[in-house]
Amino acid sequence: MSKKILVLAEAREGALRNVSFEAIAAGKKLSNGGEIVSVLIGEGISSLSQELVEYGADKVVTVEHDKLKQYSSDGYAQALLAAIEAESPDGIVFGHTALGKDLSPRIASKLGSGLISDVTSIEESGGKLVFIRPIYSGKAFEKKVVNGGLVFVTIRPNNIDPLPKEEGRSAEVTSLNVDITDLRTIIKDVVRKATDGVDLSEAKVIVAGGRGVKSESGFEPLKELADLLGGAVGASRGACDAEYCDYSLQIGQTGKVVTPDLYIACGISGAIQHMAGMSNSKVIVAINKDPEANIFKVADYGIVGDLFDVVPLLIEEFKKIKVS
Ligand SMILES: Cc1cc2nc3c(=O)[nH]c(=O)nc-3n(C[C@H](O)[C@H](O)[C@H](O)COP(=O)(O)OP(=O)(O)OC[C@H]3O[C@@H](n4cnc5c(N)ncnc54)[C@H](O)[C@@H]3O)c2cc1C
Repeated sequence: MSKKILVLAEAREGALRNVSFEAIAAGKKLSNGGEIVSVLIGEGISSLSQELVEYGADKVVTVEHDKLKQYSSDGYAQALLAAIEAESPDGIVFGHTALGKDLSPRIASKLGSGLISDVTSIEESGGKLVFIRPIYSGKAFEKKVVNGGLVFVTIRPNNIDPLPKEEGRSAEVTSLNVDITDLRTIIKDVVRKATDGVDLSEAKVIVAGGRGVKSESGFEPLKELADLLGGAVGASRGACDAEYCDYSLQIGQTGKVVTPDLYIACGISGAIQHMAGMSNSKVIVAINKDPEANIFKVADYGIVGDLFDVVPLLIEEFKKIKVS
């Protein structure tokens, strides 16, 4: 039976985040040929609707309000619950992002629904959809099915490929007026950390440094390599604790969980807490002086050597490839 699936889109600084398109693709799998309704919440965001349509949304519902300019749990929950009431979907998909992690349990509890979080793939088996998610810090995967009621999932960014973009595709775009009231928190201002370049949680390539990088300036060659590959710089907690870089770069159990196409770990030993955040990367390259380092257990390619010799060599070689 075909289903109507509601998908939450996420925008940041005037642009849609990739996970919005990945969530549409996940929604398609849930819908069994049914309708995908993308919900876009914020202020002055309606111009982004067309891109959602081109990535597969069959309808876009925008909820605009000056109190929704910045994310707040209360405000977004009110907007989303109104959209859910208006659309009566059979399923809901969010990105497993900071926003999705905060909002999805609130919505699930308001609706009295279950929630399958952090889904990395969706398969079909015996006529049922099977949701696969990592557990035990990525050491195992569990498979879940929904036996009835609303299907509510959050998907880990960078795991489900978006549908191909169809330029000029058209679909219904409607706006929903919601009176946003009684906000318990009001964001007055957002002060951003001066991180330039690609967003770590959506990066396709990450060059990460650990305590082996030895200093703040030791991160420079890693930044150069990341820039060259159009990627982002990440770090182990060891490097953050040693004040070589900011905690916003930390990857792992208590940092960001990332799944890039390529993860280059430089001078990182491979503690379980670090691997919890990166072991599902598609290709892992580890550079470490110690041939016994734990990181080599999850690496697809291991380079035993000094990162200060190896990284400049990689930069040199990638530059040659880029020129030719
Ligand atoms: C509750 C809890 C939560 C945690 N959460 C996280 C988390 O989210 N993320 C995280 O990363 N950690 C986390 N940790 C910390 C984790 O246990 C490790 O201490 C940390 O990951 C180690 O960082 P590291 O690999 O950079 O440093 P080290 O373990 O000190 O490793 C440094 C590595 O660099 C290599 N090296 C040194 N010099 C060079 C060189 N010149 N060239 C090449 N290699 C070199 C060494 O051989 C070594 O393998 C957590 C710990 C706890 C208890």
